[in-house]
Amino acid sequence: MSHKTDIEIARAANKKPIQEIGQKLGIPTEHLLPYGHDKAKVGQEFINELESRPDGKLILVTAINPTPAGEGKTTTTVGLGDGLNAIGKKAAIAIREASLGPNFGMKGGAAGGGYAQVVPMEDMNLHFTGDFHAITSAHNLLSAMIDNHIYWGNSLEIDERRITWRRVMDMNDRALRDMVVGLGGVSNGFARQTGFDITVASEVMAILCLAQDLDDLQQRLGDIIVAYTRERTPITCRQIGADGAMTVLLRDAMQPNLVQTLENNPAFVHGGPFANIAHGCNSLIATRTALKLADYVVTEAGFGADLGAEKFMNIKCRKGGIAPSVVVLVATVRAMKMNGGVAKEDLGTENVEAVRAGCANLGRHIENMKSFGVPVVVAINHFVTDTEAEVEAIKAYVAEHGSEAILARHWAEGSAGITELATRVAEIADKDSAHFAPLYADDMGLFAKIETIAKRIYRADEVLADKKIRDQLRAWEEAGFGHLPICMAKTQYSFSTDPSLRGAPTGHSVPVREVRLSAGAGFVVVICGEIMTMPGLPSKPAAMSIGLNAAGEVEGLF
Ligand code: ADP
Ligand code: MG
Repeated sequence: MSHKTDIEIARAANKKPIQEIGQKLGIPTEHLLPYGHDKAKVGQEFINELESRPDGKLILVTAINPTPAGEGKTTTTVGLGDGLNAIGKKAAIAIREASLGPNFGMKGGAAGGGYAQVVPMEDMNLHFTGDFHAITSAHNLLSAMIDNHIYWGNSLEIDERRITWRRVMDMNDRALRDMVVGLGGVSNGFARQTGFDITVASEVMAILCLAQDLDDLQQRLGDIIVAYTRERTPITCRQIGADGAMTVLLRDAMQPNLVQTLENNPAFVHGGPFANIAHGCNSLIATRTALKLADYVVTEAGFGADLGAEKFMNIKCRKGGIAPSVVVLVATVRAMKMNGGVAKEDLGTENVEAVRAGCANLGRHIENMKSFGVPVVVAINHFVTDTEAEVEAIKAYVAEHGSEAILARHWAEGSAGITELATRVAEIADKDSAHFAPLYADDMGLFAKIETIAKRIYRADEVLADKKIRDQLRAWEEAGFGHLPICMAKTQYSFSTDPSLRGAPTGHSVPVREVRLSAGAGFVVVICGEIMTMPGLPSKPAAMSIGLNAAGEVEGLF
């Protein structure tokens, strides 16, 4: 077996010109706007023409509560897309773009891994087609216009202490989290406290990923609440007058990017909202376009199924009028062991008992996904350290719980290692047995929606929120925001809000620390625990090992 790194494998890829990849989906060359030879945007006019076509089947890849390393959702999404193509199906994948910041910290890339990757991997993890730069610019244009409005007399009577719109940058830079701007005298404006978030945490990112088209994009940008007056009246982006110019900056970024897998199959890579304070999946426009062009579309939701898939179903599917035909739940022997109480250092040793104990976590996710009315298949993403007894333990558990688990070796073998899973997934999707329904109705009260998620998905006993938070939710309902879905922000490592509570905890409560209104994106963010919107770098950042080699190639990205 090969021990090549992800970047070595990616670099050796036998890439086809992007026009050929487009042809596989029937995209005429004139509607592909190339960014170099191996990336292209799909033209808006062409996308508009697709409206009347039928949709392919949507396959959602999600996972159990992960270990810190990530359990291979993207790797499995890419592998399954290749697997479906290998068994003769017309399949595309749709995944998120990578944030620049974390690449230089400690996270690996976002293009999959091993022999299940999207290429060009370096571009995808760096500037790509510039979408995130456009989002950063649009966001910061609004920031500049808010301070400028105040400087020139503040006719909207913005309370400078109640400006909620911050600035963003696509870099991990903790020094920018909290700052005072406007120092240095009269000509520099009014001093006030603010800070930076990372670009993927911008509401503009969430909006770009949920907007139906450019008109809807501008409408949603206009709806962003940027500040409040002393009387607590919201001030919107539209009142600042920035929505038109922001839409101009985002026009090209709204068009989905097409690239290819290592096996030359089409991959849409577009948008990348945070999975905590936002919904954590690629753009609706990319998923929709893919569904019009392919018979099967494999897509991914961030984090574990309790967060990522729940938001995929309740936010993205609800808003976008799409529905998955089947859910693929990624599990690994390693993560089962960790959920069964094994320490990270001991994951390499066989421990069937711990695997069995950890399966409680998997079982609950299976039940949860089924409660959306969608059939579930478990994909065991094979690691070289897994033993046969451990794999069998997972299969037996899943079978006892009314589902099936299939071992997949796509990381090591590409499509050849995942044909069994691909065949089964296509079979289930073709049966049309899903009866998708979101978990709660639009007209349910905001607090009741939070309780529904906490009780039905996290299996908590109660939601704890003080009067201030409940009053705030009620005020938003009165202001006409009661129909919005909830975007939960909590730890990805547990069903509960305590990252150390692994497995399938019961008897816990969900304390709500803060609620935020993302009026443009169209959801209410419910924050449980500490949520970092501007990450920092570790003591030895990955950036220290990244550089160009003698051939001018990128080394150290992984
Ligand atoms: P997620 O999408 O769940 O965060 P990724 O698919 O990005 O996870 O994978 C995280 C990391 O784990 C990547 O560096 C990838 O190469 C590695 N990885 C995934 N599957 C395997 C596997 N079966 N064996 C070894 N490494 C793997
Ligand atoms: Mg991923």
